[in-house]
Amino acid sequence: MTKQKRPVLIAGGGIGGLSASIALARAGIETSVLERSAFTEESGAGIQLGPNATRLLRDMGVLDAIEPAAFKPEAIWLFDGVSGKRLATVPLGDNPEQRYGAPYVTLHRADLHAGLHAVAENLAPVELRSSFEITQVKTLEDGVTVQSAGGHRVEGSSLIGADGLWSAVRKTIAPGAELRFAGATASRGLIPTKDLPAPFSEPVVGLWLGPRSHLVHYPVRGGEALNVVAVSDGGGEVQGWNQQGDAAALLSGFARWCRESKSLLEQVEAWRRWSLYRLPTLNRWSVRTTTLLGDAAHPVLPFLAQGAALAIEDAVTLASSLGALPDDPAAAFRQYEALRRPRATRIQRQSRRFGWIYHLSGPARFARNFALEHREPKNALKQFDWLYGETPNAATSKFVA
Ligand SMILES: Cc1cc2nc3c(=O)[nH]c(=O)nc-3n(C[C@H](O)[C@H](O)[C@H](O)COP(=O)(O)OP(=O)(O)OC[C@H]3O[C@@H](n4cnc5c(N)ncnc54)[C@H](O)[C@@H]3O)c2cc1C
Repeated sequence: MTKQKRPVLIAGGGIGGLSASIALARAGIETSVLERSAFTEESGAGIQLGPNATRLLRDMGVLDAIEPAAFKPEAIWLFDGVSGKRLATVPLGDNPEQRYGAPYVTLHRADLHAGLHAVAENLAPVELRSSFEITQVKTLEDGVTVQSAGGHRVEGSSLIGADGLWSAVRKTIAPGAELRFAGATASRGLIPTKDLPAPFSEPVVGLWLGPRSHLVHYPVRGGEALNVVAVSDGGGEVQGWNQQGDAAALLSGFARWCRESKSLLEQVEAWRRWSLYRLPTLNRWSVRTTTLLGDAAHPVLPFLAQGAALAIEDAVTLASSLGALPDDPAAAFRQYEALRRPRATRIQRQSRRFGWIYHLSGPARFARNFALEHREPKNALKQFDWLYGETPNAATSKFVA
């Protein structure tokens, strides 16, 4: 353990905050995770974790904890949502393990969160404080104090703002930065996998591309349920991750889609919806002894399925920087930001590009389909080497081509 007397404070015990607490504990640094909920949030959609995330989760001792709830898909199947034609296959199964040294898995966000929580709560340097909603932050030269909605004050040697999309800590770092509606809305639901017809019964991620919308489904809860997410342009702005969805409105947007895809949508009993947001690039993520991580620093659109992975990667890099410079958090945060910014920006940009490709209409849609149908399956994973093969901090990629 380092000599510091005050812990590093972590605002938010979501995916990134809990990952940071675990990674910092491994570097011998004490943390206090201040989370506004009771750490038992069941809401949220499924999450896909590429090898760049699972490799780090394995190092942190979390992969074993989530294993019973995780599903290892055999492939990603891409379809045209209107014709129902299968366009391409990205082979998964054992391929990611062989190429990148870690698996590709799908699971419910609540199961990933529970796995991180189970590991964090057993680590002596980690204190988990629930029902602590941070409302005020005071960043000083040699430390930080935060105050909760209930009037409690806590002091720390530094503060990591891992408080998500609507971050309160971000307001102290970049007061003018406002989220902007990205012009699309997502809806999610779960269906029991028992008795589902093909292709939904297959052990794959299904990605159906249509004009101005797309549909994705994959097994979660160890394969017992199918997570279904439909994303459409427009839809109006809603706050939070968990607004009630309107099945009739959603189905009308998919009226021209093929019979199979519509039959899947009709089986979802309870839709939840949320809006997609973008944040203008922040000039800085850190001020003195306070920094940001995950969605608080760089929200990412979901089209590359990298939101959770980016937060986990941030956590590992941050722990490495702070582990090397435990008595100089300001310098550690500058180093962390310099290491992470290029990759976060690249993933944000590529996610936007993938969303644009998924939602193409008119002749561009046919050109996309043609390109997908004529792609060599063996090259399908290769295009993701930069994403899945990268390890934070490392100058070299880790894939075995
Ligand atoms: C309940 C919930 C459901 C979600 N569902 C989806 C989903 O369906 N689809 C999707 O794409 N993404 C969803 N997300 C977001 C997804 O988890 C993140 O985009 C991604 O994992 C990046 O992680 P993060 O740690 O940056 O943010 P998050 O995982 O969102 O974690 C942020 C944490 O900070 C806490 N927090 C926020 N403000 C404060 C405060 N002032 N004081 C203390 N704690 C605070 C939150 O309760 C949360 O636990 C959800 C997040 C939450 C919290």
